[in-house]
Amino acid sequence: MQSDSQMPLDGKTALVTGASRGIGRSIAKKLADAGARVACVATSLEGLQATVAEIGDRGRGFAANLADPESIGKLMDELGEAGFEIDVLVNNAGITRDNLLIRMGQDEFDDVYHVNLRAPFLLAKACARSMMKRRFGRVINIGSVVGQVGNAGQANYAAAKAGLVGFTKSLARELAGRGVTANVVAPGFIETSMTEKIPENNRKELAAQIPMGRFGAAEDVASAVLFLASPCAAYITGQTLAVDGGMSM
Ligand code: NAP
Repeated sequence: MQSDSQMPLDGKTALVTGASRGIGRSIAKKLADAGARVACVATSLEGLQATVAEIGDRGRGFAANLADPESIGKLMDELGEAGFEIDVLVNNAGITRDNLLIRMGQDEFDDVYHVNLRAPFLLAKACARSMMKRRFGRVINIGSVVGQVGNAGQANYAAAKAGLVGFTKSLARELAGRGVTANVVAPGFIETSMTEKIPENNRKELAAQIPMGRFGAAEDVASAVLFLASPCAAYITGQTLAVDGGMSM
């Protein structure tokens, strides 16, 4: 066990969206274990209870509907009132509404765009000024291999995830001179509730396309996020780090 003074994120405050389960929960735990105080966000406080209990004193839950800009505004107010000035923003919350293009309703496109791309924009915008002022910040957006290679049935999701890459590179260019980095972590297939719906025979087919021959774990993604949040990654910005067992190379 490292002493507090040796921890890479000692004294830092992180905001992790989608922290109630899956990848976000693992990221929240990983950042807290590295010394950060972590604001954990999901749609309900009840849903965050297990994450916050696991993290202990360094974690606190905040409920917000990231599809709703007003709710994001309230979240930022609540964070401010609670004294959470964000050093590390991890935009992890994401949803899917899969359908083939010709059957996809505009609502299915909009829902995915709102949570997966508009919310990261609103949150980064809300955190950027204070990061710039303090000359330190890390914005880490969780993309997807699908943003790079596309996926039948996920035109909405792939567009949002590809959009995150352009968004992140633009942020990186705007904020680099102020000590703020922005990067994407792009997972491949990871074992979470998002992928548990995939039928067994499709899973085998998918695993066969992954050089490492298996799905990854949430912790594999969390480790990449910790690296990008840590002082080790101070000179890395505008990059997309694939955590996909070699799938996208
Ligand atoms: P997950 O298990 O489905 O969890 C999604 C998280 O997002 C939950 O905490 C959920 O909160 C939160 N969320 C969804 N809609 C929200 C909203 N409107 N407001 C606030 N929070 C909301 O997902 P996951 O598999 O861990 O995925 C996490 C991220 O990784 C996503 O961005 C996803 O696109 C990306 N990713 C995942 C995989 C994979 O294979 N799993 C692959 C590539 C990329 P509630 O519990 O309150 O609903």
